Amino acid sequence: MELALAHPEHGYYRTRDPLGRKGDFTTAPEISQMFGELLGLWSIDMWQKLGSPNTFNLIEFGPGRGTLMADALRAAKLVPAFVEAANVVFLETSPTLRAEQKKRVPGATWVDAVEALPDGPCLILANEFFDALPIKQFQKTVNGWQERCVALQPSADNDTPMFEVSLADTLTGPSTFAARVRDAAEGSITELCPIGRTIMGQMRAHLAENPGAALIIDYGYTQSACGDSFQALKGHKFVDPLSEPGEADLTAHVDFEALAKPFDTSACYGPVEQGLFLKALGIQARANALSANANEHQRDDIASALKRLTDPGAMGSLFKVMAVASPGVPAPAGFPTHASF
Ligand code: SAH
Repeated sequence: MELALAHPEHGYYRTRDPLGRKGDFTTAPEISQMFGELLGLWSIDMWQKLGSPNTFNLIEFGPGRGTLMADALRAAKLVPAFVEAANVVFLETSPTLRAEQKKRVPGATWVDAVEALPDGPCLILANEFFDALPIKQFQKTVNGWQERCVALQPSADNDTPMFEVSLADTLTGPSTFAARVRDAAEGSITELCPIGRTIMGQMRAHLAENPGAALIIDYGYTQSACGDSFQALKGHKFVDPLSEPGEADLTAHVDFEALAKPFDTSACYGPVEQGLFLKALGIQARANALSANANEHQRDDIASALKRLTDPGAMGSLFKVMAVASPGVPAPAGFPTHASF
């Protein structure tokens, strides 16, 4: 998964802009400007809760085309002091997408790793970033937990390699897995995202030194569980993840409980469903305001985007929102509770 996505020459993210109608998948900020605008307002509220510092880092992980940040900054013009104080920093590895981000947010700077983030108060946004990080899968067999590896099919000739899943010979100890998963029935599959875990550990270290908060939005599940969520999208259709490495978007659902592990539960908020979060931030009012100045066709687009982002049958329930904060920082907007694990 890591090679297929990030290989310097052939990796999926290194070779293309995968977003939008002509690409392989679309995301909330590409569906509607309302998404980035509301996250901009969330950021202003959080900045005020940090004491309105006159300079701070407004950070985004995996910003795609830079659409979310451009919409957030436009909405944030309501509070000019926020925009003046914001130093936009993007964590992005894809050169193609960095070029897209530069078009929409010309003043941004880029880093390759969380450890390279500049010091200072910070707000971190990450939409559909963690689902793109490589996972490992394990299967419970009569012997115990065995990693599911990718192997060449024995019959394949060299011109057209065909891949298949093959179980590792060695066993993985049960303590590797969450208590809830450990004793699963034979045949169960579970997933771990070691890189996601590392990044969250680095984020915790950063937030310990620099007052701030992070907002993580992704499709996934609240508590660690069993299930095979490894998937591939090409041209907006699901394809076999092993069939065309480097040519399809590979993702897995996000295990929010695992991501939250490095943090104390008192520093964690949610996860809440995206639909409820966006409604709490006022997406309906924003849709009404946009519709008031729109023609009929645009009004239809706004209504359908609102539905797509918030409806439980669309992105409203599958997508979850979680926040983490530095010790002592007031609760972020949009969350009724502390961690709901
Ligand atoms: N947040 C955007 C894009 C989501 S696609 C949106 O909502 O539209 C995933 C993004 O994460 C892309 O920008 C991709 O290039 C970036 N990405 C994937 N793996 C990464 C890694 N290991 N480090 C930094 N960025 C990464």
